[in-house]
Amino acid sequence: SGTRLSGIKTSGPAHLGNYLGAVRRWAGDQRPDDVFLVADLHGMTSTHNPHRLRQYARQAFALLIASGVDPERAVVFVQSDLVREHGALTWVLECTCTYGEAKRMIQFKEKSRGQDSVRLGLLTYPVLQAADILLYGADRVPVGEDQREHVELARALANRFNGAYGEVFVVPEGVLPKVGARIKDLSEPTRTMAKSSGETPGVVFVLDSPDLVRRKVLRAVTDELDTVRYAPKEQPGVSNLLEILGACTGVSPREIGADITGYEQLRSTVADAVVELLRPVRERMTELLDDPAELDRLRALGAHRARERATPRLEAALKVVGLG
Ligand code: ATP
Repeated sequence: SGTRLSGIKTSGPAHLGNYLGAVRRWAGDQRPDDVFLVADLHGMTSTHNPHRLRQYARQAFALLIASGVDPERAVVFVQSDLVREHGALTWVLECTCTYGEAKRMIQFKEKSRGQDSVRLGLLTYPVLQAADILLYGADRVPVGEDQREHVELARALANRFNGAYGEVFVVPEGVLPKVGARIKDLSEPTRTMAKSSGETPGVVFVLDSPDLVRRKVLRAVTDELDTVRYAPKEQPGVSNLLEILGACTGVSPREIGADITGYEQLRSTVADAVVELLRPVRERMTELLDDPAELDRLRALGAHRARERATPRLEAALKVVGLG
């Protein structure tokens, strides 16, 4: 038991990597106390488009539901529906965190490098992330290597706060999810498929039409070696296609190569598999997105369930620091 918290940022539309590597697993392995967060406040730490931010949040929420996350069992909600709660605890935690700690975050260094104008939110979003975790009493946070440091920060802040003011927060722990390799960009298979890459043929979005998905996969970069085998270092493009096919069919990517004779066959097999994998998800998502009343009903339900969890802890935190 305990509470696990997982989130998806709305820095762009959800892609195949988000689905295969995260959302599908979350839905498949849900427990009643799980918390799933559409992290739209995190979608504005760099230049953003307000209309798209709102659209991506609706889409990500619809994706979670369409993938099978049960809004009656889990707590599944859009972060900005509780913007006051998340905002208030962030402030309290910012006054628990030091400038030095925030500035040292590797993600901040990487994302701010070479930019002449950096939003302050890019520096402080790990504290918002700590608030996301601590508000819900999450004890386990499944995250990839790149987010580990942020969970460590949440842990440090929870301990410091509890020590200074009283035991209010559950001290969270980062857990490495059992995942396959990260899905790579189809055009640049040495980098991971990412929302932030924008509209490129290398990223397959969950809402892409079957035709577009097919075209993107058929254009995937391979190599000159002309052998279908799983060797991520020597053959990143081919290995990525095998990885995707393996994830779609539930077979280890090392065991697939044998039946496939050439790159054309590999690409078209992967294209078929991805189209079929995404079809039902896209259809359910579209249905929900076309039914705003139902989507809003589920969003309100999620927000209500989230608030029930968050409010007592927020009130306890405000009280012990001397507010209100
Ligand atoms: P961005 O593309 O904006 O950098 P992201 O998609 O990497 O963001 P999140 O929105 O935080 O990041 O990811 C949501 C979930 O999807 C996380 O659990 C993350 O591990 C997973 N994920 C993201 N990209 C991939 C990928 N290429 N392959 C597998 N899983 C992925």
